[in-house]
Amino acid sequence: MKTAFITGITGQDGSFLAEQLVEDGWKVVGLVRRSASRNLWRLRSVLDKLILVDGDLLDMGSMIDALKTHRPQHVYNLAAQSFVATSWRQPLLTGDVTGLGAARVLESVRLACPDARVYQAGSSEMFGLSTQARQNETTPFHPRSPYGVAKVYAHHLAVNYRESHKLYVVSGILFNHESERRGVEFVTRKISQSVARIATGKQTELHLGDINVRRDWGFAGDYTRAMTRMLEQDEPQDYVIATGTNWSVRCFAERAFAAAGLSMEQYLRHDPSLLRPAEIPSLCGDATRAITDLGWKPECSFDELVERMVRADLARERS
Ligand code: NAP
Repeated sequence: MKTAFITGITGQDGSFLAEQLVEDGWKVVGLVRRSASRNLWRLRSVLDKLILVDGDLLDMGSMIDALKTHRPQHVYNLAAQSFVATSWRQPLLTGDVTGLGAARVLESVRLACPDARVYQAGSSEMFGLSTQARQNETTPFHPRSPYGVAKVYAHHLAVNYRESHKLYVVSGILFNHESERRGVEFVTRKISQSVARIATGKQTELHLGDINVRRDWGFAGDYTRAMTRMLEQDEPQDYVIATGTNWSVRCFAERAFAAAGLSMEQYLRHDPSLLRPAEIPSLCGDATRAITDLGWKPECSFDELVERMVRADLARERS
């Protein structure tokens, strides 16, 4: 049985990836950091089939130990301080976890299991203030947040380990992907949860910052499928994963309210305190390489995604 090692297994992507790998017959080992209140709800359906090991991206020894013990064939580095807004408030922590954390994963693999194939979670936030209408693997980076900067560092290091240490490393440059398992601080889930709470009488308003920003939003379960395909290629290279269409936050909110039979205008409030120090007005990905080489395409449409998230939050709020 082949073994996959996942950092960030308790997060949104980690949970979808773990389910898919278990279904595909992999032994799945997940690195989980110590917490007073361990957060395993996303892994409910596969918890008894996983091996969870204590460790932290800030502690390289814990990763070397885990890799030496379990000798994985595939390593997915999904762990990160992944929330852009927090990265302005905690830029050093973000650099340490999201940037240097990737360096520790790569070094740990080099020392403990250099034949393993590594997936590094890159981000469309690396493109930032791009001058190209659509971003692909050759688009220059212009990150606009400490998070984006940390991801650029991790991306270049992934490429560097591939070129200098001959490790099999890919950086997946994923555009925003959402689901009912998204953290509630992210705008899509904040919207779907607020809509559900308004529909059930628990909340009266939804406060948002800039609703004109446009993002290319896909479904997380589609995107984690692309990760595994990247590690199955003969030669490692980097891939953009995106739907190729972008929508404004306003569009997301309009559809979310409509999905609950509500009108957005009645409940939406503009809140200047939620504006970011530096915004990215628009991101839209060109996933041609992934579509051609990996045979990958997104299955879930934007409308289905919004409805899926609102439906799940309505069920949560009603239960
Ligand atoms: P997420 O839900 O925020 O999950 C982040 C994971 O990282 C959690 O499991 C968290 O553990 C773990 N983590 C944080 N700090 C850690 C540390 N010091 N040591 C070990 N683990 C740590 O993120 P996601 O949406 O699944 O995203 C997965 C990856 O893809 C991230 O690297 C993210 O930056 C990147 N990405 C995401 C998107 C997107 O739209 N979702 C787009 C592009 C790239 P706890 O549960 O203990 O907090």
